[in-house]
Amino acid sequence: CQKCLSLIKKTKFLNAYITISEEVALKQAEESEKRYKKGHSLGALDGIPVAVKDNFSTSGIETTCASNMLKGYVPPYNATVVQRLLDQGAVLMGKTNLDEFAMGSGSTDGVFGPVKNPWSYSKQYREKRKQKPHGENEDSNWLITGGSSGGSAAAVSAFTCFAALGSDTGGSTRNPAAHCGIVGFKPSYGLVSRHGLIPLVNSMDVPGILTRCVDDAATVLGVLAGHDPKDSTTIQDPGKPFMLSSLTDVSKLCIGIPKEYLVPELSSEVRSFWSKAANLFESEGAKVIEVSLPHTSYSIVCYHVLCTSEVASNMARFDGLEYGHRCDIDVSTEAMYAATRREGFNDVVRGRILAGNFFLLKENYANYFIKAQKVRRLIANDFVNVFNSGVDVLLTPTTLSEAVPYLEFIKEDNRTRSAQDDIFTQAVNMAGLPARQPEQPGRQVVEHVVETVPGDVKNAQKQ
Ligand code: GLN
Repeated sequence: CQKCLSLIKKTKFLNAYITISEEVALKQAEESEKRYKKGHSLGALDGIPVAVKDNFSTSGIETTCASNMLKGYVPPYNATVVQRLLDQGAVLMGKTNLDEFAMGSGSTDGVFGPVKNPWSYSKQYREKRKQKPHGENEDSNWLITGGSSGGSAAAVSAFTCFAALGSDTGGSTRNPAAHCGIVGFKPSYGLVSRHGLIPLVNSMDVPGILTRCVDDAATVLGVLAGHDPKDSTTIQDPGKPFMLSSLTDVSKLCIGIPKEYLVPELSSEVRSFWSKAANLFESEGAKVIEVSLPHTSYSIVCYHVLCTSEVASNMARFDGLEYGHRCDIDVSTEAMYAATRREGFNDVVRGRILAGNFFLLKENYANYFIKAQKVRRLIANDFVNVFNSGVDVLLTPTTLSEAVPYLEFIKEDNRTRSAQDDIFTQAVNMAGLPARQPEQPGRQVVEHVVETVPGDVKNAQKQ
């Protein structure tokens, strides 16, 4: 815990954390040590440093969604997933940075500023760019983390914790995991409770898991998964425990490559890794076949209508009365609502509220919202058809390209960029499916930070 705290301080320039809960962490670590010394039985995550995206409620710890609207808001309760981590002895290091209300795919759009990708400070990146050694003050050419759970991805990738919670509505766990070279797992909708996750799109939101290796993701999933009476969409029998055999035989697997995912915007680098991965499976005896998800091209527009409609409804709760920010204007209730929301939300959030209310207007409802619901069903059925045809798993890229430099990312309108980048990830949220971004080999990536911690949960607990 102390090593991770020291790493958090040394990598503060990454802007991965909004709140560092040092006191809480040290107290929890001490209690864990006492349990160990007294020979009490230990939880699956006893003594393991974890971080939580700042859109999960944490009792007594500020929860901001990286928005002026919630600055200063301290929830009186823990999200179910946070409580389950703590019940298994995890040590909460802090709350991580994100795009405001998890809307985005860069982690560049929150009020606390953008998150920097730890790989920007690696030897590999410096050599690739033929740049001088990066230091904390180097501010021009760093890479984005992806998002919206970029703070969680950077926190895990920079070894400041072993696991972090993200949220995934259209790719927000997998996208930053891909850009930061770690595991990002989006569980099936209904497997993990959303109670206490401040909603973006209730029908697609899922708490996500970010770790440095697949085993750790399975351990954390085992802790989180299961029915929660406070979330009626959670399934009764999650089929626990989640165990990984040490040797996975892929020779009996049928792996589908969706032909619609071969889009012109796909970078040559990602494309070549995609085919390398397919070849690797083939060489281990798996059957790799081309499959079709014919409604893929509608997924982004469909997501846009459904996401903004749910956002318009969800964000109604932020009215200046119940939570967080309230403006100084008191001429009328209406004026107070309007000014509070103008001051509290950034333009991405306001834009989505406006778009959603437009789609939900009486005269537009059938033409947009209902139609999008029907298209969503077609998209989900594409997956059902492929899996019913004997395919076990789909192999797809996570993002169109590797992480881009910040200055390049902000050149384009973030909303357009968000939409393009989610092409490979959004559809599974609409279908409620599980999806995973696999890891790259773990090591401390920030070149000038020499301190390191044991790579995974099992080794850390042994030590
Ligand atoms: N990029 C998508 C959006 O902005 C996904 C966000 C998410 O998964 N939280 O809506």
